[in-house]
Amino acid sequence: MSQHSSEAVLLRTWPFHESDLMISLFTREAGKLRGVAKAALKSRKRFGGALEPMTCLRANYTQLPRQDLVRFESFEPVVSPLAQPVDYLRAAALALYAEVLEAVLPEHDPHDAIFRLTPAVLAETQVGRCWMPITYFSLWITRLSGWLPDIDRCTVCAERLSAGGFFHAAWDGLTCSIHRREGSGTLDPDSIVLALRMLREPVSTMGEPWPRDRARDLRRFLWRTLERHIEHHLRAADALLQLGG
Ligand SMILES: [Zn+2]
Repeated sequence: MSQHSSEAVLLRTWPFHESDLMISLFTREAGKLRGVAKAALKSRKRFGGALEPMTCLRANYTQLPRQDLVRFESFEPVVSPLAQPVDYLRAAALALYAEVLEAVLPEHDPHDAIFRLTPAVLAETQVGRCWMPITYFSLWITRLSGWLPDIDRCTVCAERLSAGGFFHAAWDGLTCSIHRREGSGTLDPDSIVLALRMLREPVSTMGEPWPRDRARDLRRFLWRTLERHIEHHLRAADALLQLGG
């Protein structure tokens, strides 16, 4: 039995029995962990204010021998997503981050680059300026998961996609117009240029708020790529599509 303390981001909670919760937590030192928080719904002292998805916190937990599940002892909130105003779009953005992280991260496998991406994107996700961080997160999580193809080359002939590219729900990567598959969506050349810039620059330098139609095609391409790899439909992406993004 060993005691640990780690920076973490809360991904999801499930009712367990009585006032216990099952919790999925993305920790810096050990990656995604699942475990039980005894009496979490009663004990404001040990867990109070830190049970909302995408809360950044410090988690104290015990790793039990020969068990996958850990025992969460207490959380100390560092940044709550509810400390800033929330509207429907910001709530949907937070839901997307939590759903994607929960789906892409393997358990007990630290991933420092994804861990550093998360609070940086969260800090930019504010009412009135959500579309840029949503897009940035979707692009980088796809890349850091190893699923992003060359964004400016046809996957079949390697031709540069200076006139834009085409993507298909059932296939990896982008194609040129010659190798376009029936039923493909299109990716605008401006979106490709924007993606290349996002791959070079930190999220904090991406500038002014975006209108919701900026890089909409890029988000669709990225969500389809993620969905194909995680083999499930992103419910939070539906909410964002309904909001016009
Ligand atoms: Zn081609």
